[in-house]
Amino acid sequence: MPTLDAEKRAKERAKEKRQRQRQKERDPEAYAKKMRERRKRYKERYPEKVKEWDSKPLTQEQIDRRNEKRREHRKNNPELYRAREKARSVSNPERNATKHRNRRARKESVGGRLSTTLKQSLMEKQKEKCAVCKKSVKKACHLDHIVPLALGGGNVDSNIQLLCPSCNSSKSAKHPVDFMQSRGFLL
Ligand SMILES: [Zn+2]
Repeated sequence: MPTLDAEKRAKERAKEKRQRQRQKERDPEAYAKKMRERRKRYKERYPEKVKEWDSKPLTQEQIDRRNEKRREHRKNNPELYRAREKARSVSNPERNATKHRNRRARKESVGGRLSTTLKQSLMEKQKEKCAVCKKSVKKACHLDHIVPLALGGGNVDSNIQLLCPSCNSSKSAKHPVDFMQSRGFLL
């Protein structure tokens, strides 16, 4: 019966997947190397197929999955990314200075001033929780421009929320709607 066959194949695939998962956990580097080699062998064997796949644009689902993977990788390897960022700023010190200057310039041209008690009042309003993930921001929090200055948001109290460092860094200059959608909120 075909359904039984399909079931059997699905079970086998699940088993193989678990094996790969275990291998990956035991020795992630060796596993990554193995997968790289496997992809390379496949590409050598079926260059036309790979070319055809590569030429297709990614679907939104694939893009989301890729971005999710990257986020995960970044989250799991903070030192790696810090080191990379550092290397970039060392090799290109202008980049950092420029980022800083741009931000200040935007703030100045946007004008507006935040009240000095803003952080305290937001702490109360948000019950000391990150506005996005609801984790405690008691120990570390960032004042976030809800609509980024780069997108025309104002440097005013009503455009500020408290975020945990992790949400703040992943939000950066994204539009708030896009960012919330990427976190599974809004439609
Ligand atoms: Zn958060």
